[in-house]
Amino acid sequence: DPRLQAISNAIRGVCSSGEKTGIMFQDITTLLLDHKAFKNTVDIFVDRYKDMNISVVAGVEARGFMFGPTIALAIGAKFVPLRKPKKLPGEVIAEAYELEYGSDCLEMHVSAVEAGERAIVIDDLVATGGTLSAAISLLERVGAEVVECACVIGLREVKGQRRLNGKPLYILVEPR
Ligand code: IMP
Repeated sequence: DPRLQAISNAIRGVCSSGEKTGIMFQDITTLLLDHKAFKNTVDIFVDRYKDMNISVVAGVEARGFMFGPTIALAIGAKFVPLRKPKKLPGEVIAEAYELEYGSDCLEMHVSAVEAGERAIVIDDLVATGGTLSAAISLLERVGAEVVECACVIGLREVKGQRRLNGKPLYILVEPR
């Protein structure tokens, strides 16, 4: 897809301060500034999911919120935020997951998704897949079917794998 190179070019790699490890933080805010690249990113996801009978787009806080709602509106689905602990006011279910150092947790309103609904999960970037795995668990616990996880950026290792907890993984670009 010729649009992918421009999308990749619009993502900025930022060196973590004081680090010389060569690990660059992938900053998608520059992609959001580039109207054409931003629109192409959303269009690619919309084209992929519009005829797949998806009724739930679940976005991971915070950068999944920057792509998910637009995709949901375009494909006729609802948007469900998966949030960090103690942010959602209603009754939630929670799923903890391991990070490289320590652990984190995602929460979802239990009443947001019904059993049998078909869902996709959106985030900006997948590294180890721990975050997406927690998201998949939340949706499956209420009986939804996770059709696919979708990220703008995926590390090469994950990109090669193309699956996560048995679920398909769709990635647009690798870090440059
Ligand atoms: P994982 O759980 O190891 O797959 O890490 C993915 C999560 O960490 C996502 O929610 C990302 O938003 C976040 N993340 C990790 N590294 C980066 C980065 O370089 N840029 C943006 N987000 C990142």
